[in-house]
Amino acid sequence: MLQTLRESAGLWRMPLPTPTLPPATTTNHYLVGERRAVLVDPSAPARLSQDKLVALVEEAREAGIAIEALFLTHHHGDHVGAAADLRARLGLPVWAHARTAELLPELAVDRCVKDLEVIAENADGSPWQVIHTPGHAPGHLVIWHAATAVLVAGDMVAGEGTILVDPRDGHMGDYLASLEKMAHLHPRALAPAHGEVLHEAMAVLAHYRLHRLAREHKVLEALPPTWTAPDALLPTAYGDVSRLAWPIALRSMESHLIHLAELGQVARHGARWRRLP
Ligand SMILES: [Zn+2]
Repeated sequence: MLQTLRESAGLWRMPLPTPTLPPATTTNHYLVGERRAVLVDPSAPARLSQDKLVALVEEAREAGIAIEALFLTHHHGDHVGAAADLRARLGLPVWAHARTAELLPELAVDRCVKDLEVIAENADGSPWQVIHTPGHAPGHLVIWHAATAVLVAGDMVAGEGTILVDPRDGHMGDYLASLEKMAHLHPRALAPAHGEVLHEAMAVLAHYRLHRLAREHKVLEALPPTWTAPDALLPTAYGDVSRLAWPIALRSMESHLIHLAELGQVARHGARWRRLP
């Protein structure tokens, strides 16, 4: 099994069905590290899926890989849904950022992982290091392997579907800054939580950033100088998006409006917004 799941040195990917944001239907479960390893985003709720993960961990252990923890990139249900079950079955602790732990009061996180901490290691001793990338979620972590320039990207980018920055727990300004932080590493490949590994990493990161900025510009252009409810902006700012996706678009737009307010370009009064001169 390990051989067929291998993506690069010290990285294996097993996509399994999860209740995630359509059109994605699965979350990637990554095994990261050869000498010391973590299992990333244990989330598949089905017993059959969890049996596959247990078999993967057993095979890895037989191959001499010391699996030390279940690692959470962030707190969303499609990334943590199997953590409690697998902790019990595999006897592994759960590691996550302190902000993720705070947002998961029902799941005891055993160890809080900090920015730049090394959490796994390849056979040649090269480290896998966590980088704090807030924005999609406040405690979001990616995992960087400088030796191969591979970045396990969680929900910062997607190989399938899109990334929602929800104003309830996300922050557009942070998200854009985190995309830049990732680009500064000059990754060669991005291993996202949903979809296949992306090999044009720098182009993907630039596209994500430009796409967000273009959308934010559209939102600003659509907003009049009089107090306006955000749903009135949908036909102009999100006219290219299917109406079925408008409820999601509305949340994304609110994140853009909050960011524009922080930049001093729009003002908010209750649920209404207006453009500032
Ligand atoms: Zn998420």
